[in-house]
Amino acid sequence: MDWKTILSQQRCLIQDCGNRIYAPGGKSALCRDHFLEYVKWRRKRGLAMFTKYAAMTMDERDLIVSEWSKTVKVE
Ligand SMILES: [Zn+2]
Repeated sequence: MDWKTILSQQRCLIQDCGNRIYAPGGKSALCRDHFLEYVKWRRKRGLAMFTKYAAMTMDERDLIVSEWSKTVKVE
C-alpha cells in the first residue's frame, strides 16, 4: 500500500482516537495531535534519543511508539 492509501484508510494508532492520520510512527500512523505529542515525548528524552531514532529500523521504532503510546491518555 502506498502512503496516500494508508492516509485515507487508517486511523490513529492511539486507541479511542478517531482522528485521521497525519504522519507515520513506526509501522503505524498517528494523527496530528498525537504525532506532535510523540515528538515532544522523544525530545524530552534527550538529544541522544532523537538522533538514535533517525537511524532506527521500523521494528525498533515500533517498540518506541508502543512504549510511548502507553503514556498517552485519551480524554
Ligand atoms: Zn490520535
